[in-house]
Amino acid sequence: MFDTLGHKLQDILAKVGGQDKLSEDQVKATMREIRMALLEADVNFSVAKDFVASVSEQLVGQKVGGVSGELDAGQTIIKLVHDELVNMLGADKAEPTLQAGRNVWFMVGLQGAGKTTSTGKLAHLYKKQGKKILLVAADTQRPAARDQLEILARQVGVPVLKVEDGEAPATTKARIDAQLADKPADLVIVDTAGRLQVDAALMNELAALKNELEPTETMLVVDAMTGQEALNVAQNFDERVRVTGLIMTKLDGDARGGAALSARSVTGRPIYFAGVSEKITGLEPFYPDRIAGRILGMGDVMGLIERAEAAQLSGPTDKQPGEFDLDDLLSQLRQIRRMGPIGELIKLIPGMSRALPEGFTVDEQQVQRIDAMISAMTLEERRNPRVINASRRERIAKGSGHDVSDVNKLLKMHEQMKMMMKMLQGMQGGNMPSMPGM
Ligand code: GDP
Repeated sequence: MFDTLGHKLQDILAKVGGQDKLSEDQVKATMREIRMALLEADVNFSVAKDFVASVSEQLVGQKVGGVSGELDAGQTIIKLVHDELVNMLGADKAEPTLQAGRNVWFMVGLQGAGKTTSTGKLAHLYKKQGKKILLVAADTQRPAARDQLEILARQVGVPVLKVEDGEAPATTKARIDAQLADKPADLVIVDTAGRLQVDAALMNELAALKNELEPTETMLVVDAMTGQEALNVAQNFDERVRVTGLIMTKLDGDARGGAALSARSVTGRPIYFAGVSEKITGLEPFYPDRIAGRILGMGDVMGLIERAEAAQLSGPTDKQPGEFDLDDLLSQLRQIRRMGPIGELIKLIPGMSRALPEGFTVDEQQVQRIDAMISAMTLEERRNPRVINASRRERIAKGSGHDVSDVNKLLKMHEQMKMMMKMLQGMQGGNMPSMPGM
């Protein structure tokens, strides 16, 4: 998500990062570059312009550089850019209201935007939170769309009510009420009809159903890959069926991200969720501060912690970094793999997304190879790798189906990791400059 823009902004900010003072020209050049980066990421033109104007304005008022303990010029710019990104994304995290009693959520959007998929994902998310859910497949014209929701409902394990072809809204309302009387639900999510384009017939149909069902939220599902067009669609829907929040899908694809970044400013509606994969689990709440942090390579430590909690990781060992042995490496690797694909996790670590080359991927098989090699070692070898001499290396290689050179590489990597951990600990004890907003 937002990788290309992130890399660009991080490069721009790295140039000013360590500087105590910046000349007016340097500031201007930096602002120009930031504006270009935003535009290249397909951020709406006037949103990009306002963004840079706001940062520049605040810079003028800041006491930059010099006084010890204060942020230097570079850090000040980074902090301002970070705060402005958060601001642009909508400041506080917005989520749909879920009240005691009746909740009806309307899912609207163009065909192919990911409406049905997102409906299934929401059911999964809220079912996990202990909510009782009823899905309604309300596309009165496309039986295939209804069947698709039925499949998702079965997958998630929630009931689904399918409308009939051409069913009148009042009938749908009565059927929902009857079903709820029989089997109460905390949340009814209605997957409405989609069309390839915004047209009057669709809007009339939605408005009629909306009148009847009186939804408590109307979520518009838009495809981030369509760029600024997604925001035109949003404005169209909003005019006719007043949208309360957006779900921006396919942010995992090669969408440049500008639509998501400018959605709040352009439509005035918050992004509730981001779709990040085709899987039923691929829907994330949209946290402006975390996303700004990710874009600027400050990582998403909260995101990492949540995944760790979800995977029920045990806490860190009480060992000193110098004692970090191969057994520790193995158990940490295994724990981390339970948290999700490593390539994704790595980017949540502060500083990592910048340190990695663009398009970086993790070879998950390589991780398995390391696992196999460590598993082929004796406990003594794992605790004290120094005892692993040439013949034992050969045995480990054979035992795990690898070459001796692979074992050598692993041992060298472990040595480097140990050194790095010592270094990091030294830095934390000393004066490592902290990142703004962290
Ligand atoms: P609808 O016509 O709006 O109901 O769209 P669908 O839910 O049928 O989705 C259209 C296509 O987009 C399907 O192939 C989905 O798997 C895919 N899709 C939906 N959301 C996402 C997402 O967040 N990421 C990715 N990669 N694909 C998605």
